[in-house]
Amino acid sequence: MIDFSVEPEFQARLDWMDQFVREECETMDLLFPEQGAQFDPNYTAARRHLKPLQEQVKAQGLWACHLGPHLGGPGYGQVRLALMNEILGRSGWAPVVFGTAAPDTGNAEILAMFGTPAQKQRFLGPLMAGDIVSCFSMTEPQGGADPGVFTCKATREGDEWVIEGEKWFSSNAKFAAFLLVLAVTDAEAPLTERMSMFIVPTETPGIEILRNVALIGDLDPENGHHAHLRYNQVRIPADHLLGEVGGGFRVAQARLGGGRVHHAMRTVGLCNRALAMMMERAVSRETRGRKLADHQLVQAKVADSIVELEQFRLLVLKTAWIIDEVEAGRMPHGSARNWIGMCKIGLVKLYHDVVGRALEVHGSLGISLDLPLSRWYAGHMALAFADGPTEVHKSQLARAFLKKAKPAPGLFPTEHIPSRTAAALARYPDARRP
Ligand SMILES: Cc1cc2nc3c(=O)[nH]c(=O)nc-3n(C[C@H](O)[C@H](O)[C@H](O)COP(=O)(O)OP(=O)(O)OC[C@H]3O[C@@H](n4cnc5c(N)ncnc54)[C@H](O)[C@@H]3O)c2cc1C
Repeated sequence: MIDFSVEPEFQARLDWMDQFVREECETMDLLFPEQGAQFDPNYTAARRHLKPLQEQVKAQGLWACHLGPHLGGPGYGQVRLALMNEILGRSGWAPVVFGTAAPDTGNAEILAMFGTPAQKQRFLGPLMAGDIVSCFSMTEPQGGADPGVFTCKATREGDEWVIEGEKWFSSNAKFAAFLLVLAVTDAEAPLTERMSMFIVPTETPGIEILRNVALIGDLDPENGHHAHLRYNQVRIPADHLLGEVGGGFRVAQARLGGGRVHHAMRTVGLCNRALAMMMERAVSRETRGRKLADHQLVQAKVADSIVELEQFRLLVLKTAWIIDEVEAGRMPHGSARNWIGMCKIGLVKLYHDVVGRALEVHGSLGISLDLPLSRWYAGHMALAFADGPTEVHKSQLARAFLKKAKPAPGLFPTEHIPSRTAAALARYPDARRP
């Protein structure tokens, strides 16, 4: 049975969220617009404003909704989370106000899934409370899409692990209380058993931020938020291993799937806002004696955006439903993988096209910093790389489907009309007899 309705009690929560995000989170976007401000624990004014809002969210039972009850969250499931994330996607601050901001969400998930009770108490507790920020340190300067080239290593010495090597684009490292570091522990092992995950408190001696790499939208090229790091003989106690020795790849994979689908959910929200802006401008502005909305090419932009957004939203919701079915044991483990890949592939194009069209309809105002559109537009490529480049997902998806495809039995494809007609006539020789 397919049912697209939302229970009235949950709809009431969504309505509360919608109003709160528009009134409070979007206000924070205006008051504290600096890139990365959401994660800076030393930004006193922003933190002062943030805390009471987070308390309101907690009081509503809407805090950290990405985690299920078995992981310490309220556990609304992915379908409801999709509806919630659509609302949060409107605002840069909203995910932090609701305790669902990447990369902390994924980091909390793997701490909850693989952490020991002591690790959970020390690292997950304060992270879930929103008191600290964390960092995921996996990509290396020589390559991110191919983990086979990672060389940052950890060596066991007595009761300690010693980490040595470089990492690249470790987001929020400069704000983080701890880093989750993926390091090679057995260079000879097969790729999926070669690395282990470690929890490294940032006060540990030997962690050197070589540069904080900036992105488009940052103002200072030397003061971005994505660290190029060097781990110089960084010593951590043996019990800071997260999961098993050689299990780092599995831990990292568990983290990345959720992150990808949450980005897709929020993209729906951002594109909805861009579409609303596009339509407002279309019915407000005149050119050549007519409203923009009366020009057919503008109508095409609006119509294409409505259809593409709805298609993508349905894809995201179906993916969320499949994840919930897997969690409930009604579908086999791994059933959601290709669907998450589809979301990752689709989100970049949707984001680019809808935000790009909204920007076009606003002309020079659209490309200016007086509207959020140009900043959003620049941001879409970041999502193309974060959690793995789009091309890799396309390639994986195609290979998974091609594996199931069978070659044609003869020279011609199975859909070859003359061959099929001949077979049909062989079956019904008299069929064409007048
Ligand atoms: C905003 C942002 C935040 C990030 N945050 C983090 C973080 O917190 N922690 C972290 O560890 N990393 C982070 N990353 C890094 C991200 O994971 C990498 O950028 C990504 O994995 C790609 O690695 P790369 O940039 O080295 O590109 P490369 O691996 O050099 O790939 C470059 C390009 O080559 C092409 N390509 C690569 N592989 C294939 C393939 N198999 N088939 C076809 N084409 C291919 C793609 O076009 C790809 O974009 C972040 C990146 C961004 C943009």
